[in-house]
Amino acid sequence: MYSKTDVVREVSVKGRLLSKNNFTVIAGPCTVESKSQLMNTAQKISELGIFWLRGGAYKMRTSPDHFQGLGMEGLEMMKEVCSSLNMISVSEITSISELSLMKGYIDVFLVGTRNMHNYPLLSALGENDTPVILKRGMASTIKEWILAAEYIAKGGNGNIILCERGIRTFEPYTRNTLDLSAIPAIKQESDYPVLVDPSHSTGRSEMVKAMSWAAAAAGADGLLIECDTDPDSVKCDARQTINIDQLHEIVAGLPQLLKLWGKQASS
Ligand code: PEP
Ligand code: MN
Repeated sequence: MYSKTDVVREVSVKGRLLSKNNFTVIAGPCTVESKSQLMNTAQKISELGIFWLRGGAYKMRTSPDHFQGLGMEGLEMMKEVCSSLNMISVSEITSISELSLMKGYIDVFLVGTRNMHNYPLLSALGENDTPVILKRGMASTIKEWILAAEYIAKGGNGNIILCERGIRTFEPYTRNTLDLSAIPAIKQESDYPVLVDPSHSTGRSEMVKAMSWAAAAAGADGLLIECDTDPDSVKCDARQTINIDQLHEIVAGLPQLLKLWGKQASS
């Protein structure tokens, strides 16, 4: 049932590799809000040696009254900014109807926590070879998560990356509870690289550094972090968004932790 083999899966995008043998940081705003916001933030992130840019265009907001993203306009901004800075674009797909359009704009699809159980979407993503980051459902077991990945793999797309983003528990202090034990569990049960999202798991910018370092120490293969040049001004997830100095500090601490696993930070 599980996909564990001896294969080292490498997801290769624009000449950059994301795999269990290295450590990849993906950073950027929760949501693309304007061209200047995205360009300024992406520029600063790339100056830190990070070339994987996240930015949502289609959002799955809990409230229908909240900003739902710029849609097509946001995709165009992601494409333009990533081609001018030679970065890799990562953005959430929320429905099958977005698939053919998004393929022309986005290098890596993100399936958010609310869609982990959207099996028709996962199957459709399996019929393409565009890499997919599959977030863990907020109330999903590790087994359900791996089986969700199998929906993608079954169609022939092995470019799958898993992302632990926190699960629902009784603790309200943090937005979710980061399940660090999912990292060694995934490594035991499957051969997909595993990322950690310290932003949605905590909901608090002041906790992102500690959880990023904890994830690296626990053997994660990378991070997905919400970052903006001006976190206070963003419309979406401001409370958990870190600034560039905070991202710099996190990245600077990683090499010592990665040494424990014989891994190197990659760009
Ligand atoms: C995101 O990373 O943009 C996101 C919406 O996160 P999640 O699905 O984990 O809530
Ligand atoms: Mn967000």
